[in-house]
Amino acid sequence: AKASGRNNYAFYDPEMTEKALYRLEVEENLREAIKHRQFVMHYQPQYDIAEGKITGFEALVRWQHPEKGMIPPIDFIPLAEDTGMIIHIGQQVMFDAMLAAVNWRKSGIIDQRIAINVSARQFQDERLLELVEDSLMATGCQPEWIELEITESLVLSDYDYAANVLSALQKMGITVSIDDFGTGYSSLAELKRMPIDKLKIDQSFVRNIPEEREDCEITRAIISMANSLGLDLIAEGVETEQQAQFMVENGCQKAQGYLYSKPLPEEEIIQLLGRSH
Ligand code: C2E
Ligand code: CA
Ligand code: CA
Ligand code: CA
Repeated sequence: AKASGRNNYAFYDPEMTEKALYRLEVEENLREAIKHRQFVMHYQPQYDIAEGKITGFEALVRWQHPEKGMIPPIDFIPLAEDTGMIIHIGQQVMFDAMLAAVNWRKSGIIDQRIAINVSARQFQDERLLELVEDSLMATGCQPEWIELEITESLVLSDYDYAANVLSALQKMGITVSIDDFGTGYSSLAELKRMPIDKLKIDQSFVRNIPEEREDCEITRAIISMANSLGLDLIAEGVETEQQAQFMVENGCQKAQGYLYSKPLPEEEIIQLLGRSH
């Protein structure tokens, strides 16, 4: 066996559970992944429901492991978040997504924005604004081509801090979107004060439409809140025609989900857009 310092320690510590050992292994792998840039971005198109036109994309990270293949974010983002490695992953994600925005525009393929997910740790990092600015400079991406997604719970956990950062992003010209909306219980008053442009209706509600009456009601309430505040709105996790129809009928024009397309690798997006030209 390889006798690197860290593994040695782990091996001789009787308190170490198998789970902790596994974590250490993933952690080391993740460090390698950052070093060798093993992350790839997939892009999920967002649609105007009635017109069937693409209105934007969400960038979603995957880990292309040399032996294990494609690893979904659920299997490494939480650990990356715990260990702080998410900061480095987030840097690569931002750079890659902005570069894609530049390349697609250069080839005249798209004029839609790309939405980038920002994790808790990243959002709380004081260097976030600097990172955004540096990444824009390094890639040649314009702030108007980008949208940043922050989860609702994150915004609510430190309202004043969040308001400051979000307003700075908006001033730069970046669109600010609240992810997983409806799960964090923002009040209408908070929402009205918050410097944001867009809400994403969480898929946990969308999933149960139209069967669950409560989820239908919550979704209607979110749509009417967003519309009365003049916020842009999109439903995520839309899988059926019925769900899409529910959204349009209740005043939500945009959707993202398997009904339209799963997240696709960069080349497939180019083909998809080429076809619809
Ligand atoms: P999220 O931001 O809420 O992203 C939406 C997730 O729903 C994505 O999963 C997407 O593939 C999936 N999805 C899209 N349409 C449907 C649908 O119709 N039905 C269902 N059941 N699912 C759908 P994914 O790509 O596995 O990402 C999971 C989570 O990992 C994301 O949730 C986000 O929290 C995190 N994540 C992904 N990429 C990044 C990233 O680049 N940075 C950070 N910080 N987090 C990321
Ligand atoms: Ca998201
Ligand atoms: Ca979401
Ligand atoms: Ca989610």
